[in-house]
Amino acid sequence: MTELSTSGSPRPDAPAATSAALPTSAALPVSAAGLLAADAESLWHPYSSLSEPSPMRLVRGASGVRLSLDDGDGGTVKAIDAMASWWCMIHGYRNPVLDAALKEQVDDFSHVMFGGLTHEPAIRLASRLIEITPSSLQHVFFCDSGSVSVEVAIKLALQYQVARGRHGRTRMLTVRGGYHGDTFAPMSVCDPVNGMHSLFTGALKEQVFGPQPPSGFDRPDDDPEFLAWAAAMRQVAAQYKDQVAAIIVEPILQGAGGMYPYSPACLRLLRELADEHGFLLILDEIATGFGRTGTLFASSHADIEPDILCIGKALTGGYLSMAATLCTTDVARVVSDGPGGALMHGPTFMANPLACAVALASIDLLLASDWSARIAQISAGLSAGLTPAASLPGVKDVRVLGAVGVVQLAGPVDMKGMTDAVLRRGVWVRPFRDLVYTMPPYICTDEEIALICSAIVEAIAEGN
Ligand SMILES: *Cc1c(COP(=O)(O)O)cnc(C)c1O
Repeated sequence: MTELSTSGSPRPDAPAATSAALPTSAALPVSAAGLLAADAESLWHPYSSLSEPSPMRLVRGASGVRLSLDDGDGGTVKAIDAMASWWCMIHGYRNPVLDAALKEQVDDFSHVMFGGLTHEPAIRLASRLIEITPSSLQHVFFCDSGSVSVEVAIKLALQYQVARGRHGRTRMLTVRGGYHGDTFAPMSVCDPVNGMHSLFTGALKEQVFGPQPPSGFDRPDDDPEFLAWAAAMRQVAAQYKDQVAAIIVEPILQGAGGMYPYSPACLRLLRELADEHGFLLILDEIATGFGRTGTLFASSHADIEPDILCIGKALTGGYLSMAATLCTTDVARVVSDGPGGALMHGPTFMANPLACAVALASIDLLLASDWSARIAQISAGLSAGLTPAASLPGVKDVRVLGAVGVVQLAGPVDMKGMTDAVLRRGVWVRPFRDLVYTMPPYICTDEEIALICSAIVEAIAEGN
């Protein structure tokens, strides 16, 4: 740093550019209390207020399925991460295979631009994804987050319709209760109430919403509620057919919109409507992909294939931010031969080699394991462990699908009370609205799944 002050002659009033005068990270407090105070002062957290910062816990380490949280007394307490870091960390923390893949790629190169340059990790990952996703998906666009992959999916659909000469098809058709991300195009297809569309009136594209599918994975397709929903969707699709470019939904399980499963018959109906009216079908499997609902991708519960698929979250085993948009050859050709002559998107960190390398290792690790049996076992454990909550006062519903276990309360959860009560039992959860739920790492043992369930059930029984 001394070169700085001796090279050239700084203006006399300029702050001295010495290391002593510059704030450095060493100037930050090291105590948990000091760090947390600095956090509350300066950092936005997800969906947070800086005027009323919510309580934060300081992570000092993480390994396997456990987080090490600072206990404020110079030590740490361990807690099972029942959230898998927002549904991503399927193989756990510090997984030796994933760590090694990342280190190996660091020693090769960490990043290069993807314009005019390509690399082996991207090529290998793309071919792996084409191999494991529904067979009509043949082309891959890599980007940095789930929301951006939804942006790209919507852009593809709009460019597709323009290239087909179907001008005026600029809207998306979706259902109530969905969640597709936080940037503006994804936000416009999130549930209008949960997504707080009223805050952004005038700035948000007005999309076409059909009713939420009736709840329940096992609902038969001659069920009256299903038939009523299907009739309503047929009507909306026909009414807006000249304005709609694509249908977009989360298949089988609506995630952040309410941890809400619906039946494969609903998905088949949407595929049928898309074909009938010339809409594309976009499936957002950012939450459901990579085994979470019991099949590798949720679309296979319904035996249908999308025209465009979004994946993210567990793609890199939770190690790095990366997502992808896959499409059929029809979509790729029509867009490429259309008026723009190209898909108009290109993120700076597109196909980041570190993310590609760790994603490839994560997929290989998943497929080499007996993932299907493991998820069935987790599912059975969640059912057995959470079902006792159903008879507790204040509980409205208990539901399990694949490695997703949900307890829905009769009213809003007391976030702090519930989080603390579950954490006292050694488990980390992040409830929202009226839901306490778990999406555990796949490497959880039967005992760990049982502990997650008993912690949740006991915390609810305590009256939280
Ligand atoms: C999390 C999620 C997104 C957004 O992904 P980000 O990486 O947070 O941008 C989109 N769709 C679904 C279904 C999700 O669960």
